[in-house]
Amino acid sequence: MAYTLIDGNKTAKEIKLEIADKVASIIADGGKRPHLAAMLVGEDGASRTYVNAKVKDCEEVGFTSTLVRFGADVTEEELLAKVEEINNDPAIDGLIVQLPLPNHIDVVKVTNRIRPEKDVDGFHPVNVGRLALNWPTYISATPNGVMELLARYQIETAGKHCVVIGRSHIVGSPMSILMARNGQPGNATVTLTHSRTQNLKDITRMADILIVALGKPEFVTADMVKEGAVVIDVGIHRIDDASKKSGFRLLGDVKFDEVAPKTTAITPVPGGVGPMTRAALLMNTLLAAEKKVYK
Ligand code: NAD
Repeated sequence: MAYTLIDGNKTAKEIKLEIADKVASIIADGGKRPHLAAMLVGEDGASRTYVNAKVKDCEEVGFTSTLVRFGADVTEEELLAKVEEINNDPAIDGLIVQLPLPNHIDVVKVTNRIRPEKDVDGFHPVNVGRLALNWPTYISATPNGVMELLARYQIETAGKHCVVIGRSHIVGSPMSILMARNGQPGNATVTLTHSRTQNLKDITRMADILIVALGKPEFVTADMVKEGAVVIDVGIHRIDDASKKSGFRLLGDVKFDEVAPKTTAITPVPGGVGPMTRAALLMNTLLAAEKKVYK
């Protein structure tokens, strides 16, 4: 079957251009640039890479960004004091704290301290509650990126059976809420599956839309997918590969080569959900600057 390749790179690029245009018109109207602050604790290489990418994305669309760095030995009080300072700074629209944090810092305390109005990661319980209520909110980056792909590729979701694999707080769980809610995309009949689910294959084979976020490379094989399904692969894994210049290749949670021909549309890894996750943070920061969520 010929399938549509859902191109996250291309879509993220389009979104960035749209946001850059919007920033230009805000400035032309005498407004101020949207401003994102990011806090990074410690020297973890992956976290540093992620934060640097977020700062670069901001520059690309014309946002102001502030990177606040702390050593791994920063105290919880110092961190909370900085959060408070940014909460009260009218020049800053959005604040993210890169996770994970060192063990001596209570991530719940830090998440709770960020003002919901500035919580562009959408991790604050108030924003998660608003998501569950289908109120305006900051949807966390990965589910937000997936919803945007479904919308822009005009994937019909109403009345469809959507199966989500994985129930994490950052992906599977919000994904299931969003797909079930009364909205577009949405209005699907949702089955949320997880590590205790029995007969997983019987369930996934019933999916019109299969959203995979369990964190196991190439777990979903062709025999688990219905002919004509739409498959969204959230998983991302670095696999050592001496034949590559980089020394690794990226794999998703779906065995792409054998699954893709059974689908009508599928996201690749890399170049599917990943770039959309980055674009979604920019979307939320713009919403914060325009006061579109909390009016
Ligand atoms: P997680 O480890 O927090 O959660 C995994 C979930 O999968 C759990 O709820 C667990 O119950 C379920 N699960 C585990 N084994 C299962 C099995 N055999 N059958 C059914 N369910 C099973 O993972 P996460 O943070 O949600 O991330 C999932 C994947 O998505 C990872 O590969 C991660 O790297 C990737 N990810 C990608 C992006 C992106 O931007 N593309 C963002 C976040 C996460």
